[in-house]
Amino acid sequence: MIEVVLNDRSVRKLKRELGASGSKEIGGVLAAEQVGNGRFMVIDLSVQRNGTDSSFIRDPVQHRAFIQAFHERMGHQPGRFNYLGEWHSHPSYTAMPSVEDFDQMQSLVEDEEQMSTFLVLLVLKLDANDQLLGSAYGFRPGQPPVRGRLTSIENGAVREETSPLTRILATTTLPHCVVRLLSRTELSYGEPQCPTPKSDS
Ligand SMILES: [Zn+2]
Repeated sequence: MIEVVLNDRSVRKLKRELGASGSKEIGGVLAAEQVGNGRFMVIDLSVQRNGTDSSFIRDPVQHRAFIQAFHERMGHQPGRFNYLGEWHSHPSYTAMPSVEDFDQMQSLVEDEEQMSTFLVLLVLKLDANDQLLGSAYGFRPGQPPVRGRLTSIENGAVREETSPLTRILATTTLPHCVVRLLSRTELSYGEPQCPTPKSDS
């Protein structure tokens, strides 16, 4: 089982940005600390604001720079602090990944050019009361996506979206796994538990 925990800063930032972007999709990358086996705390996240009402296309250059700055801020401890994955908003749809979202994340985690063997996708929105609503999924090469828990440090600051998809996928579990990313010199979250790690070479 994976759990993605939002810290207070991330909650504030998400609520502010989602409120300001209205019906436009926005998104970015997640910078996280591994705080337990399969448990990740989102410390910060980047925000790219040029989506449309129904799509969001990530800008890899912008996000790479953000993660690089995060590594510098955290003193280059990629085993503890690292890129965790992606997030985007669904202001007009349920806060669950679309079929295209699942396909894109699967392609991303299987892309030989990137270093992760485990990625998370958060899909988020504000509910009718301007509270955070979302879902978290974990992706690994060659495996179906798995729903994780989405929680916050501040009790109740994020609520989990529910849908039939949840019940189908919630029966599987995702072992704690590696995040290797962005730079071949920077290794990542606890490698040995990963049954099918990608090669560095
Ligand atoms: Zn989406």
